[in-house]
Amino acid sequence: MDPVVSPAVASTIADVRSRVAGFRKKRSARVGFVPTMGFFHEGHLSLMRAARSASGLVVVSIFVNPRQFGADEDLESYPRDFDRDLALAGAEGVDLVFTPSPEEMYPEGYETTIDAGSVAAGLCGQDRPGHFQAVATVVAKFFNIIRPDTAWFGQKDAQQVAVIKRMAQDLDYDVEIGVCPIAREDDGLAMSSRNSYLKSEEREQATVLYRALTEAGRKVAAGETSASRIRRLMRKTIAANYLVELEYARVVDPVTMQPVQEIHGEVLAAVAARVGRARLIDNMILKPEEN
Ligand code: AMP
Repeated sequence: MDPVVSPAVASTIADVRSRVAGFRKKRSARVGFVPTMGFFHEGHLSLMRAARSASGLVVVSIFVNPRQFGADEDLESYPRDFDRDLALAGAEGVDLVFTPSPEEMYPEGYETTIDAGSVAAGLCGQDRPGHFQAVATVVAKFFNIIRPDTAWFGQKDAQQVAVIKRMAQDLDYDVEIGVCPIAREDDGLAMSSRNSYLKSEEREQATVLYRALTEAGRKVAAGETSASRIRRLMRKTIAANYLVELEYARVVDPVTMQPVQEIHGEVLAAVAARVGRARLIDNMILKPEEN
């Protein structure tokens, strides 16, 4: 096995630009990009692996973007461990880690925001006003800074994927959007940096999100076509766990994120809940049985 080489680290826009440009000139290979907020788990690593296998240069950003957190959210306490992240990124063969400060990304006088419209309005957009505008804006800035050929995102944040795809298409970004499946713990809980907030009983009850989605998937495969019955089923399953406070359980179109009434093709079931200090989200594509 190759010895693990620590990735280069750049914290200014000028530095990351010149490193990427230098690489492109030398090797004319594809650039893969993985935007993250750090505190890596298997979900992040799977994106790095996908980027590694598809590109000659892999750039990972670690930036806890203050603008995508609401005033009462967990910006201050969001878990961070840069040294561990750097070692894990190195083990995945990442070439370059970009860790800008908030001041580097939003210097004095910064004003511009991108709004992806209706795809960003429902689901988490409703519970976290301004969140997807801040996500679309920071990702647009990263695309302009790094100019990746492919950028990789996790299906765990399905609405984020839909927002980024919409934004990239509408603003003519010449970037391919790669999407990786949801990495889960053995008991089904979707991996998340925020799982570190969960106390042991909360951690146990949190698995109900995956169970509710799986049950919904079974019903739809067995012929259920009513989205409202699927929603009710998910709510009822989740309500049986007193530590899990549901924010939403919805059935939407996987591309537009608009609510679906009748299930005839693939739909996205999406849930969000508060469990202790953590706000958790999960989702699953539901498919009617082909006949
Ligand atoms: P974050 O650091 O939470 O902003 O996530 C960075 C990227 O990793 C996003 O594209 C997420 O969708 C993705 N990601 C987070 N959790 C998972 C997971 N459990 N499985 C797959 N991708 C994930």
